[in-house]
Amino acid sequence: MMPDLPNRTERERQLAEALLLQFQRQGEAIRSAWPRSPDWKGMERDTHATLAAVLAGTFTEAASGMHGAPDARRWGQAWADGYASILAGEIVATTREDVASVSGTSPAEEAAALAAVIAALAMRAENIAVTETTRAITSGERIAVEQYEMSTGTRFRPIWQTELDARTCDVCRPLDGTGEEVFGRVAPTGPPVHPRCRCYLEWEVIAA
Ligand SMILES: [Zn+2]
Repeated sequence: MMPDLPNRTERERQLAEALLLQFQRQGEAIRSAWPRSPDWKGMERDTHATLAAVLAGTFTEAASGMHGAPDARRWGQAWADGYASILAGEIVATTREDVASVSGTSPAEEAAALAAVIAALAMRAENIAVTETTRAITSGERIAVEQYEMSTGTRFRPIWQTELDARTCDVCRPLDGTGEEVFGRVAPTGPPVHPRCRCYLEWEVIAA
């Protein structure tokens, strides 16, 4: 039961587009402040807001899909707010390190190195969107399943599912169809197991 989120592609695209806009603005801010520091704190705040808004929606939808969990929205907001803080901090820290490493023997070389860092920032949008959409879905389903188990006594076991197509990698293919006793050794909390992982869990009833 409970297949992958029906509109995951749309959710993924929504996050990728929001992040891309955000990163393009950050790139502009970095370029115009150079060689001074841009407002890193402000960037972290904006990145947090973008991530939290979209991931809360994805989490909520995934949780609601599991027996229509009534508190899904509240859980989604709490989870996304907390997780987006960590993630936004990491994203901006990486950008900051990349900018700090910019150097060149001439102003032109330095400008080219800075342009490369800014371009790389924009390219991270899709990568982050795919990975974090997967994480929001797994997290939403997990909390909904836990709550449902507590209130009904029904027990479920998660089964790892890959999309058996070109996107499936060597890490994920052997996990397809396995239970937590197997996938838990590689990915204790479920998908994603690596950047750009699009795997998901199916929940099998084991006892009522
Ligand atoms: Zn995967």
